[in-house]
Amino acid sequence: MRFLENLKNLKAYKTETTPCKIKLSSNESPFDLSEQLKEKIANKIKEIPFQRYPDPTAKQLKEILADFIKEEEGISLKPENFVLGNGSDEIINLLITIIDKNVAYPIPTFPMYQVSSDVARKNKIEFELDENFDLVKEQIDKALEKNPDIFFFASPNNPTGNSFNKDLINYVIDKGIFTVIDEAYIHFSDKESFLKKAIEKENVAVLRTLSKIGLASIRVGYLIAKEEIATQIDKARLPFNITYPSQEIAKIVLTEGRKEIKNQIKIVKAEREKVIKEVEKIKDIKVYPSDANFFLIRVKDADYLHKELIKKGILTRNMSHLPKMEGCIRVSIGKPEENEAFIVALKEIFD
Ligand code: PMP
Repeated sequence: MRFLENLKNLKAYKTETTPCKIKLSSNESPFDLSEQLKEKIANKIKEIPFQRYPDPTAKQLKEILADFIKEEEGISLKPENFVLGNGSDEIINLLITIIDKNVAYPIPTFPMYQVSSDVARKNKIEFELDENFDLVKEQIDKALEKNPDIFFFASPNNPTGNSFNKDLINYVIDKGIFTVIDEAYIHFSDKESFLKKAIEKENVAVLRTLSKIGLASIRVGYLIAKEEIATQIDKARLPFNITYPSQEIAKIVLTEGRKEIKNQIKIVKAEREKVIKEVEKIKDIKVYPSDANFFLIRVKDADYLHKELIKKGILTRNMSHLPKMEGCIRVSIGKPEENEAFIVALKEIFD
């Protein structure tokens, strides 16, 4: 049973679940939905015919997503431009399943590209970022020599928080290789999105998710590409991958809750600037700039800091055991009072 040998060599991909009062470890939105919105959702849930499959095309949800994007970015999309996934994780997995062989992505980045490549037994072409975690042309050129079938660029990148050099992403796009710009954190960034490119060019797709803007619980992610491309990719998707409740909840939140969600994003962005400014005052901590709803810090002893924060009821993500991430801890932006508690805890630990 050769497949078992492959699985035995895989490292389980699981995230830390230490229960802490303040959870700054998974880049979720710190804000739950309002009571009014939950009430509307509860009423809708009661109306669901639970014995029925959901709409396999999720057409209404795609129309609402298109409307949301039109309002935000002024770009018109059709339902045929979308592929929906059970989280964008599922779409990453789908893309890696359907491409021929070679998957290219920078290091460090979101681990799913590596995990899915290992599961699907595809070749990984990993290339390094510079000391500021940006793309390097020489590294990309080396990757290009290895015949990549797909490139993944998470921009803003996780776990580093920065957006990548646009020209170098375009450099890869211009080589004609299928390029996915994973924009899971784009709502927190003022940099330009690749969405326009995705609907212009056959070899570009943008990945997004509702997980970072308040709906991690319902698992809805989406790919946007030219109609000719998205409809082909959509054939490989599992038929009923977005559950009935998920479709209904996303529809309500993206219409009636749109203002609420946008306001929460605004607060997170403002809080990020405030927290980063405070952490920068602590002299033994290096803070990396962030376009996301989290930021990365580097300290001398990340294991110690991570443990001390847990003792104070604050869970962050210790990245220090990953390649190129010595001393690094990733911190999600919390509610104002949680961020305050984080700063107080840091000051106590570093005093
Ligand atoms: N892409 C990036 C860059 C991420 O950080 C994440 C979540 N951590 C995802 C994709 C997956 O998000 P989801 O599956 O929740 O949509």
